[in-house]
Amino acid sequence: MNGFVKLIHDITPPKHLKLMEVCGTHTVSIFRGGIKSLLPKEITLISGPGCPVCVTSVKDIDAAISLSMTPGVILVTFGDMMHVPGGDRMSLYKAKAQGACTEVVYCPLDALKIATDNGSSKVVFFATGFETTSPSIAATIEEAGDRGIGNFYVYSSHKLVPPALSALMSSPAVDIDGFILPGHVSAIIGKEPYEFLASDYAKPGVITGFSTDDILMGIYMLLLQISDKKAEIQIQYTKVVRPEGNPKAISKIHKYFDVSDTYWRGIGQIPQSGLILKDEYSQCDAKKRFSIEIDHCNPESNACMCGDVLRGLKSPPECALFGKGCKPENPVGACMVSSEGSCAAYYRYGGAADG
Ligand code: SF4
Ligand code: SF4
Repeated sequence: MNGFVKLIHDITPPKHLKLMEVCGTHTVSIFRGGIKSLLPKEITLISGPGCPVCVTSVKDIDAAISLSMTPGVILVTFGDMMHVPGGDRMSLYKAKAQGACTEVVYCPLDALKIATDNGSSKVVFFATGFETTSPSIAATIEEAGDRGIGNFYVYSSHKLVPPALSALMSSPAVDIDGFILPGHVSAIIGKEPYEFLASDYAKPGVITGFSTDDILMGIYMLLLQISDKKAEIQIQYTKVVRPEGNPKAISKIHKYFDVSDTYWRGIGQIPQSGLILKDEYSQCDAKKRFSIEIDHCNPESNACMCGDVLRGLKSPPECALFGKGCKPENPVGACMVSSEGSCAAYYRYGGAADG
């Protein structure tokens, strides 16, 4: 038996515990490593709102589709965003099939190359992601400015993780005993932004890496805190995450973005949880430079339970559409789109291992 598995079994939890892994990469690693089946039955792991693909609003998807259909515009984004259903289950991928102009990139700087190669077009980067990706978008805006690239615009749909956790904890329905906190996001923001979980809600959190051993060790550190009746934010992923995060990346974010209220798919409006471009960069703010036509703004499908899945209230197989009307090749909700979305991970690896 793996050393951490044995240590975990040696601690008897005081009650049935629900631990939330906030990040979708953790969700996938937990399935890949068969971690749920290694844990005592008193521990349930639930998935949280940690995939930016899943939480991008229908309105933002529809705006991106509208931009992609605007003559003279090339809409650039990450591959996962192409399949996310917007209103009426339209997607960027379906829009492309109807003649919309879209390009997929792996890194924001590639969008600048598209802009320089297509000088007569307006290149709009549909920017989604958490604190992990926003510094690179900020750096790309800076690079566009330095190189005098005037046909590059950003549609910011960036979101911040700690305000979403705060919104989760303020909901009486949510019942979580501890948090497996995201390694990548925390490499940027450090541990201070999560301290409210411990100080205001008496919930422990451990910032954890992505290997099976990292996650098991993170769970063990959480259990130790719970059994000692402690609530602290600790770092398991010390080889990557420093307590203060990455101050250079944080200052880059704050140079280009203001924090604002924003809407999370399935969860709703969360105060101070989004990033919008500062007024001084409005010349490359697609929201200000283009009149974006959205004919409809259908909310998510009524039958889709993404909201409850993202808040850890339901597991994907509890949704009536799971694996029936909703599959990765034809998703109804966003959680089935990204390979790191909870529903897609359950679908791919099976919910049988659920603890
Ligand atoms: S995209 Fe992946 S790594 Fe980034 S937050 Fe979502 S799940 Fe985590
Ligand atoms: S299975 Fe599909 S419809 Fe159901 S919650 Fe997941 S994404 Fe939404």
